[in-house]
Amino acid sequence: MGKYLMVGAGLSGAVIGRHLAEAGHEVTVVDSRSHVGGNCHTERDPDTGVMVHVYGPHIFHTDDEEVWEYVNAYERFLPYRNRVKATTGGAVYSLPVNLHTINQFFGKTLRPDEARDFIVNEQADTSIDDPQTFEEQAMRFVGRDLYEAFFKGYTMKQWGCHPSELPASILKRLPVRFNYDDNYFFHRFQGMPEHGYTAMVERILDHPAIDVRLQTVFSRNQAGAYDHVFYSGPLDGWFDYELGRLGYRTLDFERFTCDGDYQGCAVMNYGEVGVPYTRITEHKHFAPWENHAGSVCYREFSRACDPGDIPYYPIRQVAEKALLQDYVALAEGAEGVSFVGRLGTYRYLDMDVTIREALDTARGFLGHVQAGTRP
Ligand code: FAD
Repeated sequence: MGKYLMVGAGLSGAVIGRHLAEAGHEVTVVDSRSHVGGNCHTERDPDTGVMVHVYGPHIFHTDDEEVWEYVNAYERFLPYRNRVKATTGGAVYSLPVNLHTINQFFGKTLRPDEARDFIVNEQADTSIDDPQTFEEQAMRFVGRDLYEAFFKGYTMKQWGCHPSELPASILKRLPVRFNYDDNYFFHRFQGMPEHGYTAMVERILDHPAIDVRLQTVFSRNQAGAYDHVFYSGPLDGWFDYELGRLGYRTLDFERFTCDGDYQGCAVMNYGEVGVPYTRITEHKHFAPWENHAGSVCYREFSRACDPGDIPYYPIRQVAEKALLQDYVALAEGAEGVSFVGRLGTYRYLDMDVTIREALDTARGFLGHVQAGTRP
């Protein structure tokens, strides 16, 4: 029987820990926060009773059947479709840009083929042959009007730089739909946990061989007490930032409450730079099966992440990728530790991908343990 440490009680630490515990090993899970669930953490708002997505809105969506079965084994998922709205230029539209958005924005009644012709022949800037930047990509495929209304301001606020400084790869080839489908995601399985993500993670961690220690900050000198560490904290943090800090964007949330319903939907984006926040989340709409007289909303602001802030989105531009490579080289030489999850691998990972990778990591590790080889 091995003794293993999970640093982080988010999905990565919980899923790997559970798998190893079920295989008969002794697992300790530490997290510096006062709750499990990592960034998916949900809790009831004290004033309104609404279930709040504390670190930003989380919608579960996947095509991975095993992952869908996995999460449903620990929590009932109720149907939920993410339908995002955007306020820009004094009007409200539906996102992702779809036929409704196009017709409303241009004051037309185009059918799908007509809309495609209109965008391709009358809007897109075909003088751009080989788009290099986010801005060129948007101008090339949707044209200036849609770019400025729906992509430019939001992107500037989200990433803190002009879209001409971001790579074209951030924007999909043609980021519009020529039908009235306003479901944000395409995945086969989509839903929301009835009692929130934290309840689900608590159940994953509820195993006699798992010891969860909250408000416990990991430091590397604790690692020696374990046969192996699965580390879902920041990759550069493991190495005490000795090569410098990997860049992140962080988020600030400004909470406010009101009676009744504030905006009529869960997520309202704000496309203009004049509005300092990127979006407002009204949490009650994530649980339409519940009834609440009051409502709680978060205005979301994005900014550069300073030491001590919560790292949210890895920046992964040229400078960060170079630094990441250096840290990856260090990580490859580190013994007795696996770097996992969104912070440990410095990637934006959706929840389903996080769980998939955690399951694969745990299985791969147990394979090594059984074979007596080094992971
Ligand atoms: P985390 O959830 O970050 O957990 C890591 C844990 O490690 C944290 O609790 C942290 O406190 C702890 N920790 C770190 N260092 C230490 C240390 N030294 N000592 C002790 N504890 C430590 N995914 C979706 O599928 N759908 C969505 O709609 C969605 N929305 C998102 C919105 C936002 C704003 C963000 C940032 C992410 C979103 N995601 C979404 C992604 C989702 O949050 C991740 O997939 C998931 O949180 C990854 O889990 P994790 O365990 O790898 O990391």
